[in-house]
Amino acid sequence: SGASLHTESEDGRGFKGHGMLAPFTAGWQISDLHPLVIERSEGSYVFDTNGKKYLDSLAGLWCTALGGSEPQLVAAATSQLNKLPFYHSFWNRTTKPSLDLAKELLEMFTARKMGKVFFTNSGSEANDSQVKLVWYYNNALGRPNKKKFIARTKAYHGSTLISASLSGLSPLHQKFDLPAPFVLHTDCPHYWRYQLPGETEEEFSSRLATNLENLILKEGPDTIAAFIAEPIMGAGGVIPPPKYYFEKVQAVLKKYDILFIADEVITAFGRLGTMFGCDKYNIQPDLVSLAKALSSAYMPIGAILVSPEIADVIHSQSNKLGSFSHGFTYSGHPVSCAVALEALKIYKERNIAECVRNLTPHFQEGIKAFAGSPIIGEIRGAGLILGTEFIDNKSPNDPFPSEWGVGAIFGAECEKRGMLVRVAGDGIFMSPPLTISPQELDELIGIYGEALKSTE
Ligand code: PLP
Repeated sequence: SGASLHTESEDGRGFKGHGMLAPFTAGWQISDLHPLVIERSEGSYVFDTNGKKYLDSLAGLWCTALGGSEPQLVAAATSQLNKLPFYHSFWNRTTKPSLDLAKELLEMFTARKMGKVFFTNSGSEANDSQVKLVWYYNNALGRPNKKKFIARTKAYHGSTLISASLSGLSPLHQKFDLPAPFVLHTDCPHYWRYQLPGETEEEFSSRLATNLENLILKEGPDTIAAFIAEPIMGAGGVIPPPKYYFEKVQAVLKKYDILFIADEVITAFGRLGTMFGCDKYNIQPDLVSLAKALSSAYMPIGAILVSPEIADVIHSQSNKLGSFSHGFTYSGHPVSCAVALEALKIYKERNIAECVRNLTPHFQEGIKAFAGSPIIGEIRGAGLILGTEFIDNKSPNDPFPSEWGVGAIFGAECEKRGMLVRVAGDGIFMSPPLTISPQELDELIGIYGEALKSTE
């Protein structure tokens, strides 16, 4: 009858033969490891279908910045659902929550003045939309050849055709016939892994900026529209920028009239101890992508902040070129916008960025104290985000054989002890809710230490 398809097994994991085509999941994971079925959340914890409690060290997926049970967000959603569950924002009709959210975002982003906000449902759609917006802009300016994008090796910008192309991770490209030909990739700015012998961090950043300039010159500056970067690379390994990297990169881009797109999908709203990653690294972007913590992930929503210069061109040219015919049914969904507005209110009222600054030494130093472990190559991060890279012999050139799955072993050891981490090859990532308490951080550090001992 098929009734057994969704039967839960006794270990709190779903039945092997479940009906979902799971995102980013390998065949071996589906057949050998039944999915862990999460049923409920409370603050920094989630619970599986057997009631087992886990400290959620990744906040869902760098998502639930305000933890898993914030009543103000639930109230905002419920109230909006009762008042107006949906109306669209096409053809000069819209809803109040979307107008209010746009205004609020423009006020909050102060790394430079922004002009307009475009709403999407996700980070991937935001980055996808960035490309269309930049193309439209260059067409409006009569620069039909200025269409290529430069992204970076190991970047993660999403999973749609365009955002996966911008990403610099081969599993997103292989078998999907990507990247698209208009996307070029430049160096990953990972100093520990890619520095030359004797090279300082500043010299490393200069070399990467020179490589970027050489790529622009080789392709022709008139063909390059924009550069996209995460302030801290996330899914590619939690890689903070080396010293002076963004200063040097921005100088090159300015010289050749190339736009800077900051992908702040995981760095915005306090994660790094500043409201935005651009504040921390002194980035003055032309365009910004937002999602995830924008609503603390309680509702799906993404957004693009657009500079006044680009917004003006799009507005002034859209009679000549035809309307800006791009958008999603759910662009500016009123329930998502109402929840996001409430999340922004909480970030401000509870000084979340300052709370993160106060928690940062506890988290960073607590985990970095394990850096001497014989199986750890590097622990890196900023604010409430950390990555651990496991390595044999303490050298970037000595990875463990991938079939050993050291990251997966560590992840399973954490899970056994009641903590969820993100496993990525021979690395693991953590980015807990920004509301995590010092006691919960102690628990996180304690479980990390025990799991490490068992993995060694
Ligand atoms: N950009 C960055 C930096 C991300 O980390 C992610 C997702 O993790 C995305 C874009 C894609 O966002 P979404 O999964 O909401 O499409």
